[in-house]
Amino acid sequence: MNLNENEQMQAFGWNEHWKTRFLADEYKEMIPARVIAQFANQYRVITQHGECMAAVSGKFQFEAIRRSDFPGVGDWTAVQPLAGEKRVVIQAVLPRTTVMLRKAAGSIPEEQVIGANIDTLLIVNALNEDFNIRKIERYLIVAWESGAVPVVLLTKADLCDDVAVKIAAVEAAAPGVFVHAVSALQDMGRDALSPYLQPGCTVALTGSSGVGKSTLLNWLAGGDLQRVQGIREDDARGRHTTTHRELFPLPGGAVMMDTPGMRELQLWDAEEGRQEAFADIEAVAAACRFRDCRHEAEDGCAVKQAIADGTLDPRRFASYRKTGRELEYMNRKEQTVSKRLKKSAEKRLGTNSDRRKYSQMDE
Ligand code: GDP
Ligand code: ZN
Repeated sequence: MNLNENEQMQAFGWNEHWKTRFLADEYKEMIPARVIAQFANQYRVITQHGECMAAVSGKFQFEAIRRSDFPGVGDWTAVQPLAGEKRVVIQAVLPRTTVMLRKAAGSIPEEQVIGANIDTLLIVNALNEDFNIRKIERYLIVAWESGAVPVVLLTKADLCDDVAVKIAAVEAAAPGVFVHAVSALQDMGRDALSPYLQPGCTVALTGSSGVGKSTLLNWLAGGDLQRVQGIREDDARGRHTTTHRELFPLPGGAVMMDTPGMRELQLWDAEEGRQEAFADIEAVAAACRFRDCRHEAEDGCAVKQAIADGTLDPRRFASYRKTGRELEYMNRKEQTVSKRLKKSAEKRLGTNSDRRKYSQMDE
């Protein structure tokens, strides 16, 4: 196999890990490609021959069970080039190092890949009236669950006159997480970010719309990137569709991924991430008298005591509860629906197969 590791691949995060991974799996006559954007069931990928369009093979489609088996932005895949065409076929997704999931829009509870193979997840919040610790807590759950290392980035520091106080407040709600304040407008705080932006690293930005993600991206990229205005593409049927790229090479050698905002960020199967994000509360709860304490009106509840002492912020505790209820609800709903899907599949196929097939739609 002729593996031509050019600069373009490296600019999109190709590194020793992926090289080893790709060679180990002996994908014959295939080349590595990274998904840099997705729209409907088409993907835009980067290969050693440049950017091109891609779709999964029929075999891949047939064998996929869960929606998250399909490629997502950031995935490294093994693709088959088609002779004389600027199109490739995705045959396999390389095992992900990290994966960020959310609940897909729609009534069927299923998980959707927001981003794959993210090393550092920058959770962006602004130091103006939009500053919101509860939102940061929510993103932290998703980050911890994904396997990526979360870092909180507070933007628009030029609009805030008590930056240190805000940083301390976030640190209290984000145990074990680095918190940095920056101002793209005043070119302030860039140096603090360089540890995350090393060559071959994939860094993702996440946060509500308006917190300054585009501005941050342009600032770090040192120029204007094509982010807002879409690139016109011809899709498989020859129609024009507008899409945008979601992976951006940065001058220092890292690649930055842009992820969707918070409004639609519904938690998905993230109980471990939740325990990590609220490790301080979990630690306090270990001292409750009853092991199954619900921290409501039980005797000997250490959590209630911590709130009474002022060592635990009641708003943080409320956030812990709310996210817990949300995850329980989603879990019950998923169990009901997957039972129903399984039954109807058995009826249809006359087998015990619980294979579910999805035709992928973009939202
Ligand atoms: P996005 O929706 O998260 O991508 O946010 P944008 O990058 O579009 O920024 C939203 C608004 O915040 C714009 O009006 C920006 O000019 C402004 N903004 C971004 N960064 C800064 C900053 O460092 N300081 C100030 N004062 N405004 C900023
Ligand atoms: Zn308790």
